[in-house]
Amino acid sequence: MTPAAAFDTGGGTRYDKGKRNGRKKARGLYINTFNDAMKARFGRKTYRLSLDCGFTCPNRDGTAGVGGCIFCSAGGAGNFAGRGESLDEMLAAAKEKIKSKTRGDCRYIAYFQSFSNTYAPPEALRALFSGAIAREDIAALSIATRPDCLPPQTLALLAELNEKKPVWVELGLQTANDGTARRMNRCYPTAVYDAAVRALHERGLEVVTHIMLGLPGETRADMRETVRHAASLGTEGVKLHLTQVLKGTVLAGMYERGEFDVMPLEEYAALLCDLIERLPRETVLHRYTGDGDKKELLAPLWCGDKKRVLNYINGVFRERDVEQGSKY
Ligand code: SF4
Repeated sequence: MTPAAAFDTGGGTRYDKGKRNGRKKARGLYINTFNDAMKARFGRKTYRLSLDCGFTCPNRDGTAGVGGCIFCSAGGAGNFAGRGESLDEMLAAAKEKIKSKTRGDCRYIAYFQSFSNTYAPPEALRALFSGAIAREDIAALSIATRPDCLPPQTLALLAELNEKKPVWVELGLQTANDGTARRMNRCYPTAVYDAAVRALHERGLEVVTHIMLGLPGETRADMRETVRHAASLGTEGVKLHLTQVLKGTVLAGMYERGEFDVMPLEEYAALLCDLIERLPRETVLHRYTGDGDKKELLAPLWCGDKKRVLNYINGVFRERDVEQGSKY
């Protein structure tokens, strides 16, 4: 349920917290990044292991819809995920993919990424998730899914696992605007997301909300409203994704017919500043853009150069002294 393989918040970029000057806090660069939040929580550097467990999605098999969301590629948003016949193989493959980045005595988050990772019978999910949570090197589970894939039995299982180690559920909201959602073929109304967030919170589970920026027809006001909506429901984390056009998707056809345009990097960076300031201070910013699979990427091509993009965006954050929560 996660849009095209995104990269995380800054690859180690650390932001200074706003300093206190007497009783008055001066404005200062502050973003509650994934890296900082995980280090504070687990006491060491923590990396995601993206996994593709061979699930599908009710928005592809006809249960909720057909064809999937208009931006979703054949890989179900997990083109960089580790694959394998068993959980051990998948975890090993995922570790291999990030081994040049990992250092020291780190921990991992088993990130069930591709397609809808609760779209299976609870017994199958129990075997999979329990196997991951039992491993010493796994600090937490992160499970991406659709909000209409959380029946009571699955919620009970996740709550049970959450007693052992943290489990958070990543929900692909993308937009709170039901008109946009219909146009992107999301195939559930926003009220279903709202109910899922409440059900997860009632069971003590944390929520990470995926929001897609620059969807066709969306204005800045729409995107602000989506951020406000997710924050008002108390989402513990957000992933802000740029809309990327991947080859072979419905969105690619719309783009090639000139029905919408993608966002320039400068506009995207300015939009991020605005939205991050509208998030509560404590919300963890898990990601703020994506680079996608270069072989699949049609537009915008600037997001294929991850290093340059991160340097640029982080530079804008510093220049503008972005302070998360300052407009919340
Ligand atoms: S819900 Fe949409 S984005 Fe997620 S896997 Fe299904 S089609 Fe793809």
